[in-house]
Amino acid sequence: MNKIYNVGVIGGGVSGVVTSLELGKYGIDNVLFEQENSVVNGPPFCHLHAGGNLYPDISDEQCRILMKQSIEMARLFPQSIDERPTFISIPKSQKYSVENIQSRLDMLVDYYKSLIAEDSRNEILGNPDEYYKTYTEEDLKRLSGNESVKNPSTPDQWLTNAISLVDYTQLKTPIIIVQEYGWNMFRLGAQAQLALEKAENCTLKTNTQVTEVKDFRNQNLDYNWEIHTETEVYKVKYLVNSCGFETGKIDDSLHIKSDRLIEFKAAYVSKWQPIDGLIPELIFHGERGTPGGMVQLTPYCQDYYQIHGMTEQITLFKGGLIKSKEDKAQPQFNDDIDNKLFRGWKKADIDSRTESAIEGVSKYLPAFKSATVGGPPLFGAQQIPGDDATLRVGEVSFPDTTYARSEIVKASSALTVANQIIDKIQEEKIISVIENRSTDNAILDSIRKKEIDVLAAELTQERGYPQALSRLLIDRREADVTKEHQPELELQLH
Ligand SMILES: Cc1cc2nc3c(=O)[nH]c(=O)nc-3n(C[C@H](O)[C@H](O)[C@H](O)COP(=O)(O)OP(=O)(O)OC[C@H]3O[C@@H](n4cnc5c(N)ncnc54)[C@H](O)[C@@H]3O)c2cc1C
Repeated sequence: MNKIYNVGVIGGGVSGVVTSLELGKYGIDNVLFEQENSVVNGPPFCHLHAGGNLYPDISDEQCRILMKQSIEMARLFPQSIDERPTFISIPKSQKYSVENIQSRLDMLVDYYKSLIAEDSRNEILGNPDEYYKTYTEEDLKRLSGNESVKNPSTPDQWLTNAISLVDYTQLKTPIIIVQEYGWNMFRLGAQAQLALEKAENCTLKTNTQVTEVKDFRNQNLDYNWEIHTETEVYKVKYLVNSCGFETGKIDDSLHIKSDRLIEFKAAYVSKWQPIDGLIPELIFHGERGTPGGMVQLTPYCQDYYQIHGMTEQITLFKGGLIKSKEDKAQPQFNDDIDNKLFRGWKKADIDSRTESAIEGVSKYLPAFKSATVGGPPLFGAQQIPGDDATLRVGEVSFPDTTYARSEIVKASSALTVANQIIDKIQEEKIISVIENRSTDNAILDSIRKKEIDVLAAELTQERGYPQALSRLLIDRREADVTKEHQPELELQLH
C-alpha cells in the first residue's frame, strides 16, 4: 500500500472511534483498525458518570473532571443518553456518610453552573438547581403513600416509584436523587460506526487485527510507522494506540516499557416482572471487594435490568486486577478469566453469577427475588494507567515522538483524549495548526435517530443480547441538523 495516512488508530473502542472522528472533522486523514466486526464492542458502559456519584471515595477534582467530560460526550452522542436519574443510598451497615456526599454535590452544582456559564449548550443535566434532591425519612414515609407514576418526570415521582419497591428501613437518610443518566453503548457504537462509514477522512477497517507495528522514525522517510495486519501493511505518520486493556501488547512489540493495571469485570442481564412505573438506576453504596460491596441496578426497556455488585461473587473476580511486570507491559490474566474474555462463558457460570447478582439486589428490593437470567453478561477488561487502582479518569500519554497511548478508565474521557492527541499532532508538526477548534462534530450530528435505532438493535442481536438493550427508557427526539452545519457537512461526507 503506497498511501501514507497522517494517523493510524489501533482499536475501535470508544476512545479510538472518537479520536478518528475528531481527526476526520478537521480533515486529518486517518485509518482506524478494529479486530472485531463492529466498533465499541469492548467492556460495557451503562452509566454517564456526570459527577462521580458512584464513587464516594474519589477526589472532588476527579468528580469535576467526570462531570465536564460526561457533558462533552453527551453532547456528541445525545441519542445514547437515557435521561433517567440515579437513586443514591447508603445502607445503614456501611461506613459512608451521606453528609460527605451531600457537600460534594453542592460543589458539583456550582461547578455545573460554571460550565453552563461558559456555554449554555452544556446544560444537558437539566436545571443546575435541580441537579440533586435529598429525601429525609419523613419525606420517604410521605411519598411511599403515593401511587406509582408510569412515566415519571419529576424527582419526587422517580423516588415514589423506587421506594414502593425498596426496603428503605435498611438505608441511611437522606436518600438522594441525582441527575446522572444512563449511557447506552450499543447506541453510541451505532452512531459512531455510521459516522465513520460516512466520513471522507476516516478509513474504517473492521475485522482487521493489527499484528505488528514497525518503527521507521529514524529512516528519514515520509512516514514513521508501518502497521501490519494479516494481509496488508499501512504507512502512517502518527500512531495512536487505543487498544483498551491490550495497549501493552503494542508497547511490548515496540519494546516500550510502561506500567499499567488491568481489571476484568462483568455486569449481568436479568429479566423481571412488569412493574407499575419506571424506576431510576438504584445504587446501594458499599465497600468494594467486601460482601457488602456496592449494588447497582440499571433499568432497561421491556423489564430488563443490568446488575453490578462489587463483590468477588458478582462483578469482581479472583485475580481480576493485575499489573504489568518489570519486563512486560501487557499483564496476563489467569486461564479462567482469559477463557471468559476470549472464548466465552460456561452456562453454569452465567447462571450462578447472575443469580448471585439477583440475590444481591433482592437484599434491598425484596420483590426482585423473582427476576431470572435475561441474557449473557456484559463483560470486559478495563485499563488503569500507572498503579493507582482507585483512579477513575486515566487519559492519554505520549511515550515517544509521534506515538500516543490512550488509557481511559471511563468512557467519558474519550473526547478529552482525542483533543489532547490533536494538540500533540499539531505540536509535532504532523499537520498545520487548526485555526478554529470546535466542540461539535457535524458528521456525528448528521446521523439520524432512525439509523441509530436500526443499527443498535442489530448490534445487540449480533452480540447475543436482548434487543431491548439497544433502546432508551426515555425516548429522545431527533436532533436537528442545523443549517450552519450544512456547508461543513458537504465537505466532509462522501
Ligand atoms: C463491567 C464494566 C462496566 C463499566 N461501566 C462503565 C460505565 O458505566 N461508564 C463508563 O464511562 N465506563 C464504564 N466502564 C469503562 C469503559 O467500558 C471503558 O473505559 C471503555 O470502554 C474503554 O474504551 P477504550 O476505547 O479505551 O477501550 P476498548 O473499549 O477496550 O476498545 C479497545 C478496542 O481495541 C480493539 N483492539 C485491541 N487490540 C487490537 C488489535 N491488535 N488490532 C485491532 N483492534 C484491536 C479491541 O477489539 C477493542 O474494540 C466499564 C467497564 C467495565 C469492565
